[in-house]
Amino acid sequence: MARTQRSNSDRFARAELIEDLAKQGYSSRQMPAKVGVTEETVRQIARDFEVAIPADRSMRNTRRFDSNRIISTIVDGLDGTRMSIDVIDYEAVDREQMPRWIDGLRQAESSLRRLRTQLEAILTDSERRCPVCDTAVTGRADQVYCGATCRQRAHRNLT
Ligand SMILES: [Zn+2]
Repeated sequence: MARTQRSNSDRFARAELIEDLAKQGYSSRQMPAKVGVTEETVRQIARDFEVAIPADRSMRNTRRFDSNRIISTIVDGLDGTRMSIDVIDYEAVDREQMPRWIDGLRQAESSLRRLRTQLEAILTDSERRCPVCDTAVTGRADQVYCGATCRQRAHRNLT
């Protein structure tokens, strides 16, 4: 009992410290050394005490925004590329430059294929649903159920 009370007041003191650091612009990644707990615990305490950490939010948004903008720029650029390809007159092309062009195209193809298969993998993964509880299944490609509980439940029902 006394122990629980002390750990609660510790958490409260940490929450206050986290709030203070957050106001100074610290992200949860920069806090562990000052707060004396792991990064994950910092975030857990922040959630429990509803302490906003603005530096975390802006970091996450920047990352997400950048990736989406990058992919979007690539795909939009390729629309233009496809239209340009349609108007090429192959009788007029310079044979001397062909080896360099072919090499560049081969590298671009493999980069684009990697991007596409990566996106397909993410999408397929998020569309897999547990047949018992219907939550999204992530992890290995041959994983059918969301976890051990549902797998056991399914097997019990079969027998
Ligand atoms: Zn399940």
